[in-house]
Amino acid sequence: MDKRLIYLDNNATTAVVPEVLEAMMPYFCEKYGNPSSIHRFGGSVAADVENARKQVAALLGASYRDKDDCATEIIFTSCGTESDNAAINAALNALPERKKIVTTAVEHPAVLHYCDELARKGYTVELIGVDGCGRLDMAALEKAVDNDTAVVSAMWGNNETGTIFPVAKIAKIAHAKGAYFHSDAVQAAGKVPIDVNEVNADFLSISGHKLHAPKGVGALYVRRGIPFTPLICGGHQERGRRGGTENVASIIGLGKACEIALANLDEEYRSLKKMRDDFEAKVKAAIPRIRINGDLENRLPGTSSISFECIEGESILMLLDVFGICASSGSACTTGSLEPSHVLRAMGVPYSAAHGTIRFSLSRCNTAEELDFVVEKLPPIIARLREISPYWESEK
Ligand SMILES: *Cc1c(COP(=O)(O)O)cnc(C)c1O
Repeated sequence: MDKRLIYLDNNATTAVVPEVLEAMMPYFCEKYGNPSSIHRFGGSVAADVENARKQVAALLGASYRDKDDCATEIIFTSCGTESDNAAINAALNALPERKKIVTTAVEHPAVLHYCDELARKGYTVELIGVDGCGRLDMAALEKAVDNDTAVVSAMWGNNETGTIFPVAKIAKIAHAKGAYFHSDAVQAAGKVPIDVNEVNADFLSISGHKLHAPKGVGALYVRRGIPFTPLICGGHQERGRRGGTENVASIIGLGKACEIALANLDEEYRSLKKMRDDFEAKVKAAIPRIRINGDLENRLPGTSSISFECIEGESILMLLDVFGICASSGSACTTGSLEPSHVLRAMGVPYSAAHGTIRFSLSRCNTAEELDFVVEKLPPIIARLREISPYWESEK
């Protein structure tokens, strides 16, 4: 029995890499001071948190001045979800007379479920649809954004299909009506270049655990000059923009992870894309009646969403698991339910294909050899499941 682990679920979470862990280690038992303390023991930790802020700003093309800059563009949060919630909350509070949020049908639940909550509170939420390749309906977007719209929230790269949205164009449409633009860039950060100024983003969210930093830390970019109302009120941490004593070790880890990602961005993009493209070509050659989901010309480099017709994704996952291969049948939030994910439904992927969809998501920790192992194990698994599938019989 092969005991090795082949982890191809990096859009769900990634491993903390050794360099990141090493950078974090001193902040547990040695440099445990509170960054808000007046003494130098705490003060030196505050300086290190500022260094992490600078590293995050660099990855996003944000500006960083110094520790006394009360309008700092990077706010540390507890996760990507908090960043998404905080951004939308701040935008609504900055334009209190506007009562509408425009977002997309394929956002992460961190945006969609927060919008559900806002709808219950009386806000209008409009979801823009996508086509069969996951591309946003730009005409519908342009129509939806009006003078009552406070914020347009559109993700940079989709967590299920990797599809990249034309964020600069979306920002332009938002700004033409005086609305703010927020992007959930949790999946894109560290995988494709991000420049908040080039895109003209007003708010942008990232999460530590999607780029080899720990779980439970995130960051929110807020454009300088935008009035910011905190989602979490408490002490004066984060320049009064996010109460709660800083998760120092994780913040240091997030900073380090951003520094590594920035230094290796081009090379990593190329190697992930090559591994993914080779993998898809081999799977296509070996297995009939599959479809690859998403905007194939415009995708995050390490994401591969493949629909295997007439079988259940859950069954595929279970048989892959026997070989230590970890993948996913959609977003973590849909796993466990038998409904195809909201993303595939929004794309109109036919039912019989949507049900047999597997997301393979790569990171720099993967090797071409691991993917070849999957290419070897996958075809007999699919053939075996199709053999016992009533749908496959009837469609032959
Ligand atoms: C994972 C993810 C989130 C949530 O981030 P957490 O840190 O897990 O809260 C938000 N948006 C997208 C696109 C994600 O993939």
